[in-house]
Amino acid sequence: MSRYWSKVVSCLTPYVPGEQPKMDNLIKLNTNENPYPPSPKAIEAVRREADASLRLYPDPNADRLKSAIADFHGVQSNAVFVGNGSDEVLAHVFNALLKHDKPILFPDVTYSFYPVYAKLYGIEFETVPLDDNFSIDIKDYFRPNGGIIFPNPNAPTGCLLPLHEIEALAEKNRESVLVVDEAYIDFGGETAILLTQRYPNLLVIQTLSKSRSLAGLRVGFAVGHPDLIEALDRIKNSFNSYPLGRPAISGAVAAFEDKDYFEATRKKVMASRKKLMEGLDALGFSVLPSAANFVFARHPEWDAATLAAKLREERIIVRHFKQHRVDQFLRITVGTEEECGKLLDCLKTLCQ
Ligand SMILES: *Cc1c(COP(=O)(O)O)cnc(C)c1O
Repeated sequence: MSRYWSKVVSCLTPYVPGEQPKMDNLIKLNTNENPYPPSPKAIEAVRREADASLRLYPDPNADRLKSAIADFHGVQSNAVFVGNGSDEVLAHVFNALLKHDKPILFPDVTYSFYPVYAKLYGIEFETVPLDDNFSIDIKDYFRPNGGIIFPNPNAPTGCLLPLHEIEALAEKNRESVLVVDEAYIDFGGETAILLTQRYPNLLVIQTLSKSRSLAGLRVGFAVGHPDLIEALDRIKNSFNSYPLGRPAISGAVAAFEDKDYFEATRKKVMASRKKLMEGLDALGFSVLPSAANFVFARHPEWDAATLAAKLREERIIVRHFKQHRVDQFLRITVGTEEECGKLLDCLKTLCQ
């Protein structure tokens, strides 16, 4: 601690992202990146931006990208907000839409960035326990609140809430904003984006980091009623007018236009997930039902932290959370067929 620090800095407990190791030859199944490269058209679009025009600022509103997202999802451009990764979009959402007098609600087991943002912006929160199956029960959220936020499917569990339950919650929770973080929706869920046209209290957030293999480009977005989007724009334009560079805007537009590649990649990931879940099940793991590009699994006899450490010795990294209720689980990103095969071979040796 330094005497030059502001009070707010001294009180922060920053989010700790999964490890990005500097060494090669690792099977990296710890941060839910897509094992396949981005669309070749997206890569080409990023390359095309590497010219003299980089001396110029990008479009502060990224209008081309907003249109591409609006077209893809069948909404108007003024219902779309874009940011530097959905983490930045989330930060603005906490500041613009979730900071009220009453505490906000999110699950006890969820994306661990939410409490970090809440503390950064001085927002009180209450955590709502998942049920015994590690699912969200929407009835637990039927009470006064300053806002509700959770991922769907949830992270790190992978469990999906069906669209009609999202709608029932939006219907019931008219006094505050319901934020659905759909980082993993393309791996088996149905997006709530079209519901935002009927529920002005519903905001849906997505990212290009997972299903579109562009974690390195940093692009995320939100879709909701233009009033919610205006609130986000007001914060964004009081913080950083140019969150997306020229390469990010162009690459993201091309990724949205290449629908065939997107479909093919997400189908490959879903097929590998099925095999991975079956393989883990055969080794005696209990695996939560997953609609994401990761699985959450525990072995009845083997300590999760020990397993993670042993896998690491074999150059395979997975994520373990030292957290109440889930400290016996491993979160394993769905890799390529080959990577999942190697993981299962390794676990077979370790768990016998
Ligand atoms: C990965 C992830 C994000 C962040 O995605 P970026 O767009 O890369 O910042 C947000 N929410 C959840 C639940 C995630 O898992």
